[in-house]
Amino acid sequence: MADSAVTIERPDVQARLAGLSASIQALYEHAPFGTHTLAADGTYLQVNALQRAWLGLPPDALLGKKTPTDFLTPASLAKYQKHLSAYGSHGFADLELDILGQNGSTRPVSLTYSGNRDANGNHQTSRSVLFDLTAHNHRVEQQRVAALAFDSLAGMCVTDSLGHVLQVNRAFTTLTGYSAEEAQGQPMSMLSSGRHNQAFYSAMWASLQNHGSWQGEIFNRRKDGQVIAEWLSISAISNADGKVTNYTATFYDITANRAAQDQISQLAYFDPLTQLPNRRLLLDRLAQAAASTSRSGKGGAVLFIDLDNFKTVNDTLGHDEGDKLLLQAAKRIRSAVRETDTVARLGGDEFVVLLDGLAPPAADFIHQAEKVGHKVLKALALPYVLRNKDFLCAASMGVTILVDGTTLSALLQQADLAMYQAKKKGGNTLCFFDPAMQNSLAERVGLEQDLRRALGLQQFQLYFQPQFNRHDQIVGAEALLRWFPTGREPVPPAVFIPLAEESGLILPIGQWVLETACQQLKAWEAQPHTQALQLAINVCARQFAQPDFTDQVTRTIAQYAIDPTRLKLEITESMVLDVEDVVTKMNTLRAVGVRFSMDDFGTGYSSLSSLTKLPLGQLKIDQSFVHNMHAKPIDAVIVRTIIGMAQSLGLEVIAEGVETEDQRAFLIENGCLLLQGYLCGKPMTIHAFEALLTQHAIRPASAPAMD
Ligand code: C2E
Ligand code: MG
Ligand code: MG
Repeated sequence: MADSAVTIERPDVQARLAGLSASIQALYEHAPFGTHTLAADGTYLQVNALQRAWLGLPPDALLGKKTPTDFLTPASLAKYQKHLSAYGSHGFADLELDILGQNGSTRPVSLTYSGNRDANGNHQTSRSVLFDLTAHNHRVEQQRVAALAFDSLAGMCVTDSLGHVLQVNRAFTTLTGYSAEEAQGQPMSMLSSGRHNQAFYSAMWASLQNHGSWQGEIFNRRKDGQVIAEWLSISAISNADGKVTNYTATFYDITANRAAQDQISQLAYFDPLTQLPNRRLLLDRLAQAAASTSRSGKGGAVLFIDLDNFKTVNDTLGHDEGDKLLLQAAKRIRSAVRETDTVARLGGDEFVVLLDGLAPPAADFIHQAEKVGHKVLKALALPYVLRNKDFLCAASMGVTILVDGTTLSALLQQADLAMYQAKKKGGNTLCFFDPAMQNSLAERVGLEQDLRRALGLQQFQLYFQPQFNRHDQIVGAEALLRWFPTGREPVPPAVFIPLAEESGLILPIGQWVLETACQQLKAWEAQPHTQALQLAINVCARQFAQPDFTDQVTRTIAQYAIDPTRLKLEITESMVLDVEDVVTKMNTLRAVGVRFSMDDFGTGYSSLSSLTKLPLGQLKIDQSFVHNMHAKPIDAVIVRTIIGMAQSLGLEVIAEGVETEDQRAFLIENGCLLLQGYLCGKPMTIHAFEALLTQHAIRPASAPAMD
C-alpha cells in the first residue's frame, strides 16, 4: 500500500524521498512549459520559472497574493471564468488565452486545468499547464497568408521536379480553363501554344537550372484553344541538399496589354483610316529599298499620288464620304501593285507607292515604273460610288527613280514635285521628276508664305471687268481678285487661287472679296447713274461648303446695307457634288435676293437634272468655247446648245472671253445677249472702271439686263 510505504521511517527511504521531491520540484520549476498551482481561494501557491518569466514577475510578487486572473487580457479573462464555472469541477484542456505580461506584452497560450478535491469533494488546489502558442500561431498565420496568396488573381501552379502539376489555384483554372482535377498530374507542356520554338524552351530550362528562375512573356493555349499572352515567372524550389524538388509558376494574362501595345505600334506606323503604312514606316522601307537596290543592282521607284478632286468631295460631301473615297482609293492602289510593293498614305489624299525589285538594265526602270504608274492611275480614274452616285476623282502622279546617294526625304520631294507637274497638266496623268522642277518647288513654298501675309499687308485689290448687253450698255461687272506682292511681279489668280484653296486662306480672302464688293455696291447705290449695276464675285467650293456660308453672306449684306439683288455669286459646276446642300444654301440666299451665275459653264459634268434643281439666274458660257467657236465647229454647236438650254430654262446667258467682233456678232445672232471679254474691256481698277462708265451708257435700272 502506498500509505503504509510512506510511513516507513527508514533514513535511506527518507533521503530518497527528499531527493525525489527535489527532482520533481526541479522538473516543475524548469519544465519547458508554464505551470502553476493555485490554492482553493485561487491565489498562487506555486508558479514555475517559465511562467514567471512570461509574466515578468519575481516569485514573491505572486505567491499567496495574486490570482491568475490578474494576468489575463479582458477577453481571455471572460473566457477563463466562463470555462472555470462550467468545467472547473472536471478540469478542461487546451483553452486558448492571451496572458498579459507586466510590461504590457501579450502571449497566446493553451491552458490545461485540473482541480484537486479532498475526500469530501471540496475544492482544494488546482494545477494548470500552459503551452506557449506564439510559434504555433505564427505558423498558422503563415499558412493562412500562403493560402490567400495562392488564391490571388495570378494563376499559380506547383509542379514536381519533372514539371508535372501538383497543385493549382483558382485563377489558374480561370486563366487556362483547366480545373484542378484536370491539371493535376499533367505536364506543364499541356499549355504550350506551339508559338515558341525549341530554342525558346531550352533557354527557359537553362535559366531555371543556372539561376533557379525564369520570367518573361509567353504564349500559352487555353483549354478552349484560345492563345493568350502571359507574363510568367517560374522558380525552382530545392531541398536542403540543393536538389530541385518542385517548381512554382505564377502568371498573369497580358493579352490586353499586348493588344494595346500592338495598337500603339499600329498607330505609330500605320495610318489609322486605311491601315496603310504611314510616312514613318514608308521612310523605313525606303531606306531598306535603297540599301537593297544598291546591293542587288535592281531598281526602285517612288510613285507619289494625289487625288485630283478630293478636296471638292471632302468640302462638299463631308468628311465621312471623303473617308470612304480614300478607303476605296487605298484599296485600288493596293490591288494594282504587287504584294511586295509598299503602299503608304502620307495624309490627306496623298499616297506613295514604293516599287522595288525593278529588273535591270537601269534604262528599263523608267519604263517599268511608268507601266505600274499607269495601271494605278487607270484604277483610280474609275468612278467612285458615294451616296449611291458615281463620282470621278482621278489622280495625278509624280515618279522618281531611286538613285544611289539621294536622301530619302529628297526622293519623296522629287516625286512630290513631279506630281505637281502632273497636276499642272490637268491631272489624271503621270510625270517623271526632272531636276528643273526643284526651282519651282522653292518658288511655291515662298509664294504660300507670302500669301499668308498678303491680307494683313493689304496687297489685294479687286479689279472690275465690265459686262455689256447688245446695246453696248454696261449692265455690271465681275470682280476679279488681284494680288500685288511687294517686291515681286503681280501673281495671276490662276496661280494663287489654287494655293489659297489648298491652304484654306481662301476663306478669309473670300470674305474680304465679299466685303469689298459690298462696299462698292453701296457706293454705286448712292449715285443714280450707277444704282442699277450688278456686281458678280467668284465663290469657290471650299467657301461655299462652310456650314455658316449663308450666314456670312447675309450678315455682310446687312452690315453694308446693300440691295442684295445687285450682288451675284458665281459658282462652278464642280462644287455641285452634294446637290441637296448646295440647293438649300442657294435657296436661302436666293430668298434674301442674292443672284447666282454658273461660271465656266460647259466644262463640268453637271447633269441637266441637277442643274434644274438649282435656283440659278444665269449661265456663263466658258471662254474656251467662245475662243474656239470659229475654229472648231463643235464648239460653235456647244455654244448654241448652251444658249438654247438657258432660254428654255428661263435663264440669262452671258459669254465670257469675248475678244473679237466676229465672236460678238455670232453670240448676239444666236441669242446670247450679254457679253464679257477683252473686246469690251479688260479687268481694270475701280478708277478705270468708273472712267469707262462715263464713256458708256449704263443700262437704266428699269430695263432688264438682256434687253
Ligand atoms: P473666271 O471667274 O472664269 O474669270 C474669268 C477669267 O477670264 C479672268 O481671269 C479674266 O481676267 C479672264 N478674261 C476675261 N475676259 C477675257 C478675254 O477676253 N480673254 C481671255 N483670255 N481672258 C479673259 P483671272 O482674273 O485671271 O481669273 C482667273 C480665275 O480666278 C477666275 O476665273 C476665277 O475662277 C478665279 N478668281 C478670280 N477672282 C476670284 C475671287 O475673288 N475669288 C475666287 N474664289 N476666285 C477668283
Ligand atoms: Mg468668274
Ligand atoms: Mg469663268
